Amino acid sequence: MLPDLKEKVDGLRDSAIEILSKIIEIKAISPDSGGEGELKKAEKIESHLDGFDVERLDVKDDRAYGGVRPNILARIRGEQKRTIWIVSHMDVVPEGDERLWNTPPFRAVVEDGKIYGRGSEDNGQSLVASLIAGKAILELGLTPYYTLGLAFVADEETGSKYGIQELIKRGVFEKDDLIVVPDGGTPKGDMIEIAEKSVVWFKFSVFGKQTHASMPEKGLNANRMAMEFLLGIDRALRDKYSKTNPIFQPPVSTFEPTKREANVDNVNTIPGLDVSYMDCRILPEYNVDEVIEFVNRMKEGFEKEKGCRIEVEVVQREFSPPTDENSEVVRVLSRAIESVRGIRPGVYGMGGNTCGAFFRKAGFQTAVWSTVDNTAHQPNEYCRIDNLVEDAKVFAYLPFVRL
Ligand SMILES: [Zn+2]
Repeated sequence: MLPDLKEKVDGLRDSAIEILSKIIEIKAISPDSGGEGELKKAEKIESHLDGFDVERLDVKDDRAYGGVRPNILARIRGEQKRTIWIVSHMDVVPEGDERLWNTPPFRAVVEDGKIYGRGSEDNGQSLVASLIAGKAILELGLTPYYTLGLAFVADEETGSKYGIQELIKRGVFEKDDLIVVPDGGTPKGDMIEIAEKSVVWFKFSVFGKQTHASMPEKGLNANRMAMEFLLGIDRALRDKYSKTNPIFQPPVSTFEPTKREANVDNVNTIPGLDVSYMDCRILPEYNVDEVIEFVNRMKEGFEKEKGCRIEVEVVQREFSPPTDENSEVVRVLSRAIESVRGIRPGVYGMGGNTCGAFFRKAGFQTAVWSTVDNTAHQPNEYCRIDNLVEDAKVFAYLPFVRL
């Protein structure tokens, strides 16, 4: 059956190029970024879903064209009700500086085995790959083992409130469903992402006392206090939370002082306030609350010692539990990749947050995988057509895998 599926998918290559080219040319930018949303693109995609069980879930958003943010669910019934979902997103980011593009960003240009255009790789490639995978199964009249679910969602680029988050809230996915998010990966398609570090952003406001720089004894230099505090906390965090986990790139938690707000305008004034930020990416082995506690205790000690006041604010915080590397979704996906490509994929974790995080937070086993050159969000974004077709073969075989 696998050879038939592969052949069928190869036969759908031209059709894939045509569908992807058409949807690239329908601008689906979030109203948050000044666009009209996904409705026109969703209607185009629906016109290619003959034979699937199709359901549309519209989420109200008055700012968008049609007043809604559409989400499409397309299913092929399997022997089991349990569903393996392939979740891709319809929205794209704006083109950015158009002068950096060699081709018009919202015109699909096919050249040297690539399709250029905004959204071609992120996430058009996987969207179309999953679509032709389903088409191949339908055209062969096969019944897979798992039910195959394709979810084409809205609003991934600006927070997923009208997309994945809402679908999870409405109970679209069953607890034991398997989730594959093909929205990130490596150029060889040899790595499955199973974990993300927790993200915490701190804002530190250090209050001293402003005065003339020639008479420092009359004030308290917030700049100096902030530098001492930041260096101390930077070292203490790295010493205390020093565990390594080789599945992550890099394998340690990272604590980086980053942004610093401007303080005084002139050189001869000692600043009375210094505001700086720290970006922390913490391995899942550690409890984020405990890290925040630790920072607060350090702050109290520093305040007592130096006689300044510091406000600590957590301005961003994200946590998602890792998916077990022996979980069903990882094993099924690995088996499919190995059967189709003859490579045994590894697993890895990342410092950034993908939409897989929403699924993991809600308790779903989730694997993030695709084969991409990583041109997302860049000028001259492209999709390598071979990647689309070869990933489609993996998606087509996925619901047939029996462990
Ligand atoms: Zn994406």
